[in-house]
Amino acid sequence: MTEDVLTIKHLSVDFQTLEGTVHAVRDVTLKLHPGEVLALVGESGSGKSVTTKTVMQLLPKNAKVVSGSVEYDGRDLLKLPEKELQNLRGNELAEIFQDPMTALDPTMRVGKQIMEPLLQHQDLTKDEARQKALAIMEKVGIVNAKERFRNFPYQFSGGMRQRIVIAMALICHPKVLIADEPTTALDVTIQSQILALIKQLKDELGTAVIFITHDLGVVAGIADRVAVMYAGRILEFGTVNDIFYHPQHPYTVGLLKSTPTMDMNEGDLESIPGTTPNLIDPPVGDPFANRNRHALNIDFEKMPPFFKVSDTHYAATWLLDKQAPKVHLTDKLEQRREHYAKLAEREAQADD
Ligand code: ADP
Ligand code: MG
Repeated sequence: MTEDVLTIKHLSVDFQTLEGTVHAVRDVTLKLHPGEVLALVGESGSGKSVTTKTVMQLLPKNAKVVSGSVEYDGRDLLKLPEKELQNLRGNELAEIFQDPMTALDPTMRVGKQIMEPLLQHQDLTKDEARQKALAIMEKVGIVNAKERFRNFPYQFSGGMRQRIVIAMALICHPKVLIADEPTTALDVTIQSQILALIKQLKDELGTAVIFITHDLGVVAGIADRVAVMYAGRILEFGTVNDIFYHPQHPYTVGLLKSTPTMDMNEGDLESIPGTTPNLIDPPVGDPFANRNRHALNIDFEKMPPFFKVSDTHYAATWLLDKQAPKVHLTDKLEQRREHYAKLAEREAQADD
């Protein structure tokens, strides 16, 4: 097995707030394999964005990395001087967000913005950079790239703006792309076009992607592996098949059951009861225990370790302990399996 591109180890991040210290990310370990798409999923507030902002060293001032490391190319990003980080950001490590306008300057022509990372990181003439910018604009599906080069962001639709941001992010051929809910603000049709585009480009460039979403529905089509995050912790990780067909943590099962699929009845959707815990005073055990109708006493007392389900699949739930009672979590998921299988098949055909 080749080396991981990025390794986050035992990362914990706190925020100082007027109410107290928020423990936003708690002992997170994640590995990104070369060329893969790793989906980071979980409800809003689970710590997905803070984890990746730590990787990019773009945390707000009230944040503090309490422990952990982020290994990239033999170095710990958390210990790099700002100057070296600037050399990596937008070059080897790139990022796209939910709202393309956060990445775009409304007063600057888009062509110039797309060229910018090239001029900053590579030794090119303006004309060479311009040629590369035009080429990538065409590649991300902007027709009449030559004319559009001189347009401003407001002259594009939301989906087209996200294409421009993707062009900017990928123009230097990064090793790692962090995509933080890049399609959440877009309507469904545009959403699937953008997903297909990200997939196509990462295959061409060999970029490894961390794809953040709160919507498991989009994961089946794009991800190779999935990590499920909740209340600052990773609760389960595995291949897409492991997570969709053999989920082990009750939270993962809850997420699957609450994700709508196209051909299901509304009555089949089950929302997860209760609310996410307060991260100023997080629970000591499994953070999902109070929403889990199968919770054991120990779930409230002790954080479960990762139990190995298979070589690719691990889950932090005491239900996997040898002494735990057997519970059946995955009833009513059959219908979804068919749906996801269909989706994966369609994606595979689209790849050919
Ligand atoms: P997600 O991306 O999974 O929706 P985030 O990573 O943005 O969640 O947030 C994780 C937790 O950190 C949340 O409880 C959130 O309230 C808290 N948090 C994020 N940013 C700040 C901040 N600047 N100050 C205080 N708390 C924050
Ligand atoms: Mg977020």
